[in-house]
Amino acid sequence: MLDQATIDTLRKAPVPPAQNLINGLSCAASDGQVMDVISPVDGSTLTTMPRSTATDADRAIAAARRAFDDGRWSDMAPAARKKIMFKWAELIEKHAPELAVLGVRNNGTEIAMALKAEPLGAAQTIRYYAEALDKVYGEIAPTDGNTLGMIHKTPVGVVGALIPWNFPLMIGAWKLGPALAAGCTVVVKPPETASLTLIRIAELALEAGLPAGVVNVVTGEGAVVGAAIAESMHVDVLTFTGSGTTGRRLIEASARSNMKRVYLELGGKSPNIVFADAPDLTKAAKISAAGIFRNSGQVCIAGARLLVERSIQEEFTDLLIKATESMKIGDPLDLGSAAGAVNSARQLKQNLAFVAEARALGRPVYGGEQLLAETGGFYMAPAIVSDVMPSDRLFREEVFGPVLAVTPFDSDEEAIALANGTEFGLASAVWTSNLSRAHRMIAKLRAGVVHVNTYGGADGTVPLGGVKQSGNGHDKSMHAMDKFFDLKTAWIAL
Ligand code: NAD
Repeated sequence: MLDQATIDTLRKAPVPPAQNLINGLSCAASDGQVMDVISPVDGSTLTTMPRSTATDADRAIAAARRAFDDGRWSDMAPAARKKIMFKWAELIEKHAPELAVLGVRNNGTEIAMALKAEPLGAAQTIRYYAEALDKVYGEIAPTDGNTLGMIHKTPVGVVGALIPWNFPLMIGAWKLGPALAAGCTVVVKPPETASLTLIRIAELALEAGLPAGVVNVVTGEGAVVGAAIAESMHVDVLTFTGSGTTGRRLIEASARSNMKRVYLELGGKSPNIVFADAPDLTKAAKISAAGIFRNSGQVCIAGARLLVERSIQEEFTDLLIKATESMKIGDPLDLGSAAGAVNSARQLKQNLAFVAEARALGRPVYGGEQLLAETGGFYMAPAIVSDVMPSDRLFREEVFGPVLAVTPFDSDEEAIALANGTEFGLASAVWTSNLSRAHRMIAKLRAGVVHVNTYGGADGTVPLGGVKQSGNGHDKSMHAMDKFFDLKTAWIAL
């Protein structure tokens, strides 16, 4: 649907200064401040966006509050709400090429993946929850004959949605879809380094007929705008995807303010466990390389730790290097690129520091150099670091970049202990031909997702969430709607 010539035209389109969207109106920050939007593709300044203040966040929250309290959305007939959400999904699809290219210019993801995951993924998610919105309702409890116990599902109210930069539309839709389907109103805080497409799809929502104030978008710094949303007495629930550091702050902010519910989707250091009896090692290597290096490793579920049975360590590492060599790293707007740019200069510096530290510890390192510095963009060769020890920072901490830590193991028990040996519990994978072993590993791995003989690629019908310090909620699937409902009991004497 998107050919190279179209991409090459769209990439030259001027990008006007971005604006907030509050109560259906585009507006600047109240004090007129802006911040530069830097493109990771070539380091140039793409445009500007509002450096909003806490006052702007409060205005957006007030608009969302009014829109919720007067029932302009939650009291609308379900069929009418559904129609608007379907129209919205259709408009996002219609504008998918522009949205995908704009998103890549903003965050550096390779275009093939960006198109599929971002506008098209978002449209699919919005449609999924539009279809669901009149199929979720309350219950009547089996009480005695003298009373009627009714359980109503009522929308929670105003939702604060705080979004990360790796897949702003896909993840944004994971929040907006179920929140709107439940009847809530939303204030979106887009990420500093990937705000443009979220603003654009919020404009498309208005065009689709969403009443003003139901979705509001405020750009700026997390520590200012995000913090104001987190501290607000008028926001009823926070739905967040991002780092554990910010997640912790949100829980504190909730405790300091109105004890709003806080749902966190956080980072990971996901183990990808390859046994010698894996059905096809070449295929496992190919999928494992994609599982860590696509989107330059900036994927929450990335298989960032390869745990490999010692007897095949050398053979599998060679296969992995071969698979990695065949991945073209470069211009994210080239359809042939398997991975594009790292999101920011700061992220690139951090990735390179992890590699330097591994080298200093004497770990064998394949790749991991900065690439294409002459373009002004932020590029990096995938790194495969061997013989990583559980005491290494690279074993325990999330890089959120294209750096794979390889650690050998000798038994199932050791593989499980290594896999579970971090504070995270987001995703995991097991490669084996032994069905009993696969089931044992599914039971023992402390992770929200376990893949068997594959990595990634799950669709919207299954939940995504972490255990331990990878989070406490679920995006995707019908389970995501629970976050945006309150249960109200009506107890009626008969
Ligand atoms: P981040 O925590 O820095 O920022 C996320 C969002 O929170 C941004 O919108 C930011 O502006 C806002 N924010 C930052 N500081 C804030 C504060 N003090 N108060 C309120 N809001 C604040 O995370 P990031 O760097 O954008 O994203 C990368 C992280 O996200 C990684 O750890 C990654 O693993 C995680 N992630 C998790 C999932 C998942 O589904 N579990 C998916 C994608 C990314």
